[in-house]
Parts: sequence; C-alpha cells; structure tokens
Amino acid sequence: MALTTRIGRIEIIAICDFVPPSAPPIEPFPEVPTEAWEPYRESSLTKDGLYPRNYGVFVLRSDDFTAIVDTGLGPGPHAGQNGAEGMLLQNLAAVDVGVSDVDGVINTHIHPDHVGWNVVDGAPTFSRARYTVSRVDWEHWTTQDEIAPHVRDNAVPLEGLGVLDLVEDDQEIFIGVRTLGTPGHTPGHQSILIESGGEAAVITGDVLHTPAQLQEPGWTFRADIDKAAAVTSRRMLIEKAIEDKLTVAAGHLRYDGNIGHIVEVEGRRYWQVLAD
Ligand SMILES: [Zn+2]
Repeated sequence: MALTTRIGRIEIIAICDFVPPSAPPIEPFPEVPTEAWEPYRESSLTKDGLYPRNYGVFVLRSDDFTAIVDTGLGPGPHAGQNGAEGMLLQNLAAVDVGVSDVDGVINTHIHPDHVGWNVVDGAPTFSRARYTVSRVDWEHWTTQDEIAPHVRDNAVPLEGLGVLDLVEDDQEIFIGVRTLGTPGHTPGHQSILIESGGEAAVITGDVLHTPAQLQEPGWTFRADIDKAAAVTSRRMLIEKAIEDKLTVAAGHLRYDGNIGHIVEVEGRRYWQVLAD
C-alpha cells in the first residue's frame, strides 16, 4: 500500500520508481565514519547496518490538478543497476494515475534519479504535462562544457518540445503548491511546499537522505555539490518543519516510511513515520 496523506484539498501519495540494493553507509556518506551511525542504526539503517536506498516520487492530486514531484531514474541507459528499469509508470497506474492524467511534472533538481522519466526517446512521457524546473538549476546544468547524458536526454529536450516552465524560488506552480529554495545539493535545488485548508507539507527533494540527518544536519551526502549551502538549507528546512508542524515527504527515505513528521523530544530530533 502506498503511503498517503491529505493536506487540505491536496492528496500526497508516495510511490517509487526504483529501490536499489542497500549499501554500506560510507558510500552515500563518505565523510561519516561507520561508528558514528551507531546511535542511528535503528532509525536509519537496515538490520544488517546498511543504508536503505529508494528513488521515491510523490503524486499530488486534488480536484484541480494532478502533479508528480520528480520522475525517478527512468528507463534506458541511465536506469538502475543490472539494467533494471524504473517502475514509475506501473506504480502510478496502481494509484490510478495514467500518463495522460498528469497536468504537471515538478523536478526538484536536475539529477539523474529525479528526471529519468521526463522524456523518453525524445518524447515527453506525460503527454499533457507542463514540466517545471528551477531556472538556476537549468542554467547550471545546460551550460556545462560537457552536458551530462541525463541532462541531454531527459532535461534539454523539454525546451524544444515547448513544455518547459522555468521557475524561481517561492513561485506558485499550482494553487497551494509552490517552490521553496533549498540550494546546496545542486545550485538551484528546490523543495516543494504544499499549503491547503490551513495544513501544510513540504516535499524535501534531496535536502534529506536519512533520518539521522535530522539530528546530524552537518552530515553531507556524497552528491551534495556545495556542502556548506546544503547544510544551511537542511538546518533551515528542519527548523521550519518543526516550527510550522509540516508534514514532511522525503523521496530518498525508506520506501514504506518516507512521509512523516520531524519531532523534537528533549532536544533531539526524530523521524516519525506517518501513522496509517
Ligand atoms: Zn536524489
């Protein structure tokens, strides 16, 4: 069963594209010694002490629109290990979302595990959708001397196809859905705020890779480009989530537990998975 919640008029559904094998935590967090994970084993690692990976995607659905936040690793040459293909389209169908039902695709940033299904073989996967991408991230990734394959195949074509909307921070995309600038992981990385009926949630994008980072916001992920900025964004988002009592959805957290709340008990921060 997909984890799901409702923020006012907007339903949030956690699905995934692909769950790769778990990895030793030193791989995603090369600067964190293995023993430093000890206090977080239960909350953040598998029973074998491995880091559980997940390429999660969130569906936003209301009477007014259907959108998806991020599109996973996708099919084709950039897909998972051993040629495993992402399951996004099957998993969308399982929650009754067909590719032509999607009005908007929102990419939190242009990394291969977030744009994989945007465009397949030059055609937009979501035939009716506008695609929303951070202007800063777009300018960063599309002006490199050597354009990365996933940028060339899954991002650049959006412009020529006429389906691209570049957005700034704090810009409304749909009613109740707007960008929140959280740079660092990538230069234009954006989290997505959802506000409806007096309730609010945030889809973190890659600000959060493990519950341990709630207590250890200084732990940086291997792929964080500007590590200092990533830490600043993470601290800001954690404080905001606690202060504003946000529901939090973090695509890289464990598949069956990636919507929840950040709770503070005696000065320590914990991840509390959404109760069924
Ligand atoms: Zn990612």
